[in-house]
Amino acid sequence: MRKMMTLALAVLLIACSSKQQTETKDMNQLSFTTEQAAWMSAIACDEAEGDLVALESAIHNGLEAELTVSQIKEALSQLYAYTGFPRSLNALGVLQRVTGDRQAKGVKVIMGEDASPLGDDYDALKEGTRVQTQLVGKAFEYAFAPATDYYLKAHLFGDIFARDNLTYADRELVTVSALSGLEGVEPQLKAHIAGARNMGVSEEQLQGIVVALAANGLLSEAGRLAGLLETEWPQGKSNDAYAQYFVGQSFLQPYFGGVANVTFEPRCRNNWHVHHGAVQVLICVSGKGWYQEWNKPAVPLIPGTVIAIPEGIKHWHGAAADSWMQHLAIHTQEQPGATNEWLEPVSDEQYNSVQ
Ligand code: MN
Repeated sequence: MRKMMTLALAVLLIACSSKQQTETKDMNQLSFTTEQAAWMSAIACDEAEGDLVALESAIHNGLEAELTVSQIKEALSQLYAYTGFPRSLNALGVLQRVTGDRQAKGVKVIMGEDASPLGDDYDALKEGTRVQTQLVGKAFEYAFAPATDYYLKAHLFGDIFARDNLTYADRELVTVSALSGLEGVEPQLKAHIAGARNMGVSEEQLQGIVVALAANGLLSEAGRLAGLLETEWPQGKSNDAYAQYFVGQSFLQPYFGGVANVTFEPRCRNNWHVHHGAVQVLICVSGKGWYQEWNKPAVPLIPGTVIAIPEGIKHWHGAAADSWMQHLAIHTQEQPGATNEWLEPVSDEQYNSVQ
């Protein structure tokens, strides 16, 4: 009898703790691993651009990284509010096809759970207003267009954000990634960068979106986001392996997908050099600097500047005299046997003449 009671109590305790876990799910924390977040960013940006070929590949990779079909479906559904039903439905069609193909072939696909049902007393307008206030950082009322104000509160931040198969942080990562793929919506992208921060997305995770876009060849998109983040990136370790090819101190922070961040102290620059068999892309992410091709005027580097350096072109890049500078570097269109040819240092005379 006593044993039975203990067992019953244990079952009750487990039931309570699991219920509590559901109720206290932290909506202000990203629920993805770094790899899952990277694929989710690519999926969202491809959806926004309507690039269904790239989207299919990103979905396969996301499912391999154990994103669930439920999570991806939720992200693509949410995005109709930002990119329109045509893009959203096209993307859902790709997800449906990929899911079916993988199931038919017996390849890994985790369906995941749908959102928990809402209580009968759920008030979408009230809850949505609370969520929107947290996202914006203060109460927001769009008095000019009351109907839109209602849609934003009751539907987008009420009906949609209440679905707990993505957290608020997950949803803002999805939105920021998608808006990075759209031209002419910088004010909204900027607002959602702030919104992501308010919903618990860390600086490192925001920077991860830039890296993920760059690693997936979404270079101007990565630049668009990097130009609006206004954040300092980790400088990483002293760039000792390449110090012989630099004037001044540089640092190197490797990321995934062949993307690295290079930090240059003021006046630091690399030697004249040539990339053979690859196009090097630079994405300036903070500070001020210069990029110069041989016999051409120097081009300023500021956050958001994206430079594709054709193969075979003699050039250098580095910080301005009065500022640190950080840029991501990635090699694209790499052919077998690609090399860097390091040449003479950029003399003080050459360097000073571009400041
Ligand atoms: Mn270079």
